[in-house]
Amino acid sequence: MGKPDNTFWLGQLKELERHCNKKGFKVVYKDVLTDAVYYNKKVFIMSNRLNKEISTYHLLHELGHLKVMGKKKSYKENYDYVFTNFSNASLTHRFAIVQEELDAWREGLILSRQLGIHVNRRKWEIAKTKCISTYLSWAVRNKERKKQRANA
Ligand SMILES: [Zn+2]
Repeated sequence: MGKPDNTFWLGQLKELERHCNKKGFKVVYKDVLTDAVYYNKKVFIMSNRLNKEISTYHLLHELGHLKVMGKKKSYKENYDYVFTNFSNASLTHRFAIVQEELDAWREGLILSRQLGIHVNRRKWEIAKTKCISTYLSWAVRNKERKKQRANA
């Protein structure tokens, strides 16, 4: 295969969107900074600022979230305890969210193989790292400020 071009990625993205539709989800592109899933409305809101390749990876990740949530027993085991017993603002709660994000990326990669969606592993890892680093800095943000204040 030659270097995948924009048309190739558009085709892959369309295929993934069909997969979402089969799951009962709509995919809507909006001028937003970050993607979002509305489980009750069954819609993925995707940023239209990304190119087709990165959009494909982000949509795989969002589908990964569905997989993570769908595994009810392991979801309970992995997250429910922390989510119900630690406050939203705690590092422990936030790190559980980061863990869920990582799990969704892993499930997304597994799904790409199952669906035969081509992934450039290097670009995938970079896209994943960008998203996870945002979550990581969010997770420690307030704690860092508190520490700075405590040290002042
Ligand atoms: Zn996510």
